[in-house]
Amino acid sequence: MTGGAHFRQAVFWVGLYAALALAPLALALAGYDRPARPFWVEFGVGLGFVGLSMMALQFVLTARFKGIAAPFGTDAMLQFHRQAGLVACAFVAGHVLVLIAARPGYVAFFDPRVNLMRAGALVTVLLALAGIVGLTLLRKRLRFPYEWWRLTHGLLSLLVILISLAHVQMVGRYVSTVPKRALWAAMCLGAMSLLLYPRLVKPFLARKRPYRVVDVKPETPRVWTITLEAEGHEGLRFTPGQFAWLTLGGSPFALKQHPFTFASSAEQRGRYSFTIKELGDFTSKISSVAPGTRAWLDGPHGAFTPGTGASALVLIAGGIGVTPMMSILRSMKDRGDTRPATLIYGAGSEAMIAFRAELEALAQAATFKFVPVVENPGEGWQGERGVIDDALLTRHLPPDDGKVEYMICGPDAMMDAVELLLIKRGVPMRRRHSERFNIA
Ligand SMILES: Cc1cc2nc3c(=O)[nH]c(=O)nc-3n(C[C@H](O)[C@H](O)[C@H](O)COP(=O)(O)OP(=O)(O)OC[C@H]3O[C@@H](n4cnc5c(N)ncnc54)[C@H](O)[C@@H]3O)c2cc1C
Repeated sequence: MTGGAHFRQAVFWVGLYAALALAPLALALAGYDRPARPFWVEFGVGLGFVGLSMMALQFVLTARFKGIAAPFGTDAMLQFHRQAGLVACAFVAGHVLVLIAARPGYVAFFDPRVNLMRAGALVTVLLALAGIVGLTLLRKRLRFPYEWWRLTHGLLSLLVILISLAHVQMVGRYVSTVPKRALWAAMCLGAMSLLLYPRLVKPFLARKRPYRVVDVKPETPRVWTITLEAEGHEGLRFTPGQFAWLTLGGSPFALKQHPFTFASSAEQRGRYSFTIKELGDFTSKISSVAPGTRAWLDGPHGAFTPGTGASALVLIAGGIGVTPMMSILRSMKDRGDTRPATLIYGAGSEAMIAFRAELEALAQAATFKFVPVVENPGEGWQGERGVIDDALLTRHLPPDDGKVEYMICGPDAMMDAVELLLIKRGVPMRRRHSERFNIA
């Protein structure tokens, strides 16, 4: 897909998001003919409506719909989910605070002596909101395991939406007619059911499409390549640069699902390799996965793919960020695609350059330039050293005819620096593609 098409798609989705976030407010006001209340009371109510609809939309953002993620990239979309979620929580909390400030009598809603169930529900919502925000911001510091965080996050969000929906229906002021009530309920329940789509529907469909681990081999210290083969079906098709959610073990419904980029050629249908760096509990056990182990793939996902109109590719990788570049280069080789490509690949030491022999062999072709950059090289190292900076780019970037595309993947600090350098060089956004493995 071209950059322009992605841009149009992005504008469409952002417009749709804004329209859907405001739709419940418009719906509430449609046909509303009761006397107006003071401005701050109505404002507080408005915050609640928009906050709740944004919360419902959060479920759409994480349902792994390929069309929505395509123009932005999965990492950017999950970042948006995170920021929009914080804004939605602020709106819902603001709803309570503004209403109480405008009419202190509303404090009675929290009084169990007045109405035990209502007070209990409201306190539960506020605690759940605090839990969602607190755990999201402090997960890493608290060392809370990712899978448990994801489960807790989903359950608390469900709780908030359900209680808020009941609250809207019980207050009833702006949803007094049956069609309005039904529409509200359908919107919230529809959005919530999306939580089940990737967790239940997709694994259910995947159970007839198992894979089997056929090989696990070391690449560099603490980096392993695991290879899977489709079992009893033809496998999936992906575009180089995309990723899949990998589940290992007997059931596709397992809680542990991790995203990994395809490292193999997209021309190799039915056999897929992923190169994985040891980081935490799941990745540290990859080396001990036995051949024959069942595996499941949910994919392909992601938009980290070069445009079809690129005249040349510049691939800039750091560490394990080399995996999508390998898939791109291997696919180009298998397709006989001879467009010029340059790989600038930063690694901590010579021993940490994965696929070195393969890349050096590829570099025998006149159309591929391999530039390893070693941060702390040994004595005999003849190549580039240090980090990827402007001078290094000047030495190695090919001439830019306005159609060269740049793919960047690596640690956050490296990506921030390289993105800035490319912006300074005038490379427009539509020709810069970035993928961050660190999404939360
Ligand atoms: C689009 C994408 C492509 C990726 N491709 C590769 C790749 O090719 N090779 C590679 O080595 N790594 C890749 N990663 C990173 C990889 O997914 C994480 O390193 C891995 O999930 C860590 O799991 P862990 O339990 O070992 O580590 P933990 O210590 O549990 O997690 C470390 C960090 O990884 C992230 N993470 C953990 N579990 C999940 C999960 N289930 N889903 C999403 N994120 C999670 C969280 O940010 C967490 O803080 C990719 C990530 C993304 C988003």
